[in-house]
Amino acid sequence: MTVKTLPQPPKVGMVSLGCPKALVDSERILTKLRSDGYAMSPDYAGADVVLVNTCGFLDSAKAESLAAIGEAIAENGRVIVTGCMGNEADVIRARFPDVLAVTGSHQYEAVVEAVHAAAPPVPSPFVDLVPEAGLKLTPRHYSYLKISEGCNHRCKFCIIPSLRGDLVSRPAAAVVREAAKLVEAGTKELLVISQDTSAYGVDIRHAASKWEGREYRAHITDLARDLGKLGAWVRMHYIYPYPHVDQLMPLMAEGLVLPYLDIPFQHASPAVLRRMARPANEAKVLERIRSWRSIVPDLAIRSTFIVGFPGETEDDFRYLLDWLEEAGIDRAGCFKYEAVEGAAANALDGAVPEEVKEERWHRFMAAQARISAARLQCRIGREIDVIIDEADGEGGATGRSQWDAPEIDGQVLLRDTSAAPGDIVRVRIEDADETDLFGVPA
Ligand code: SF4
Repeated sequence: MTVKTLPQPPKVGMVSLGCPKALVDSERILTKLRSDGYAMSPDYAGADVVLVNTCGFLDSAKAESLAAIGEAIAENGRVIVTGCMGNEADVIRARFPDVLAVTGSHQYEAVVEAVHAAAPPVPSPFVDLVPEAGLKLTPRHYSYLKISEGCNHRCKFCIIPSLRGDLVSRPAAAVVREAAKLVEAGTKELLVISQDTSAYGVDIRHAASKWEGREYRAHITDLARDLGKLGAWVRMHYIYPYPHVDQLMPLMAEGLVLPYLDIPFQHASPAVLRRMARPANEAKVLERIRSWRSIVPDLAIRSTFIVGFPGETEDDFRYLLDWLEEAGIDRAGCFKYEAVEGAAANALDGAVPEEVKEERWHRFMAAQARISAARLQCRIGREIDVIIDEADGEGGATGRSQWDAPEIDGQVLLRDTSAAPGDIVRVRIEDADETDLFGVPA
C-alpha cells in the first residue's frame, strides 16, 4: 500500500505591538493565514517568516517597534513589517534595508499577500478548508470566516485531529467583530468555515461573549443569525447534519443565511460510514433533507464523497449512487481513497484495487453530472440574485447564484451587463448545462 506523506505547512511568527486595534488586526491576519494553510511558530527559530505588527503612536512606541524589527531581523532575518509604523516605510527601510515588505495599518490583504510571496502556502487537499484555487487572496467582495479550529471526531481516513487537536471555538463576539469589520471593508459574502461548523461552541459550552455592549452566544444557530444581520450573504460550509441544523432552516427561509449547505457526507452506505467512523446516520439524513426542503424548497446541498474506501463493496457503491439521486445532491466532489500517513484507516483490510476505484470514480462523476444538470434545469426561467466575481468590460460577466460557493461550485455567465465585481444583480436565467447557469440582467 502506498501511503501519502503530507508536505509541512510554512510557519509564521508574529510579534504584535500596540493598542487593542492593532491586536485585532494581528488576529485577523493570523486567522486568514491559518485558513490559508499556514502554521504558527511560537519562536523565531522555527518561523519561515516573521511578521512584526508595529505601533507608531508615540516616539517611545516607535522606538519599541524599531527595536522589535531589529530583533526579528537579527534572530530570523525574514521579516515583514505592518501596522501603524508601516506608514513610515522610508524610515524602516533606511534602518533595515533587509525587511521583505512594509505595509501600513489595516492593509490586511497586503500583509497576507506579502506572506504568500515570502513563504508560499503548500496546498493540501487532505487538510485545507479553503479550496486550492482560493489560496490566492480572495477578492474583497467575499471572505472566509474561520469560527473554530480542530475537531472532536476521529474519522478513520482523517489526520486533522492529530494535526490540529480537538475542537477549539473562537468566542462568538470575536467572530462577529471580525465579520462586521470585513463587511465594513466591502465584503458582500461571508463563507463560514471550520472542521465541524455545526459543533461550533460545544467546547466552550456555548458561552456568550461581549462586543460593543451586546452579548453573542457561541452556538451555530445564534451565530448564523447574528452574522445574517450584518447584511452580507452568509454561506455555511462543513456542516454535519446534527438535529440542531434543523434550526438553520427558518433563518434560510427568512433570507438571513443563504439556502446552501456544504455537508461533507463522504459516503452513504451504513457499512462504509461505520468503517469510516463518521459522525452521521444516513437513514435519518434522507428524512432530514426532505424536511429541510419542505421549509426551504430552494436549498442547495454540496458535498464531497470518497470512493474505494477499504472494504467498500459493489453493493455499497450502488447504494451510494441511489442515495445521491434520492437526496438530490446539487454539487459533489469525489475523491478516490488514498492512504495518508498517520491515518487510522491505513490499518483496515479490504483495500480496493486502483482500477476499481478509478471505475467507481467515473461512474460517480457521471451520475452526479446527471443529477446536477437536472437540478440546474429547474432554475431556467427564474429571476435570481447573482453576485458578480469578474467582468470583462465588454458586457460579459461571471458571477454566482446563492446556490454556488466560489471556486468549488458553478457560475452564472452573464451577457449585456454593466455590473462590476462585488455587485449583486437581478438576473433572468435563460439556460443551464451540468455546471453553470446562463442569464441576462432582469
Ligand atoms: S469530522 Fe472527521 S473528517 Fe472532518 S475533520 Fe473531524 S475527523 Fe476529520
